[in-house]
Amino acid sequence: MSIDCQDVMICPARITLDAAQLAFFNGLPNAAPSVQSELGCELERGHEGSHAALGQQVEATMWWVQWTLSASEINPYTWCPEQRDCPLFDGHPGRHGHEHAEEVNRFSDDQRGATSSR
Ligand SMILES: [Zn+2]
Ligand SMILES: [Zn+2]
Repeated sequence: MSIDCQDVMICPARITLDAAQLAFFNGLPNAAPSVQSELGCELERGHEGSHAALGQQVEATMWWVQWTLSASEINPYTWCPEQRDCPLFDGHPGRHGHEHAEEVNRFSDDQRGATSSR
């Protein structure tokens, strides 16, 4: 086993949102770009509990999609208070994700830049 690269420290689980979940996100009072229908878990690899991916952020509230093998739900959270640049939610399992912040930012930049001339 050679799991010492940081790139593989993120949980590999993915989820495809269903129509109702996409409709929920698109109905939020926020001008953010629409949510991708497939999201990846943003928690530490091997974490406990449900998988979690940030779907949308409305002011101080982050809407996280959380799922297990059998069910998924969307829950509101505030930012993790433990570490300022941690991109995860309050009470998340596993390590703080500040080292992944760059990747998360790049991800949303891609979405924002999709319609710009950049
Ligand atoms: Zn996970
Ligand atoms: Zn944290």
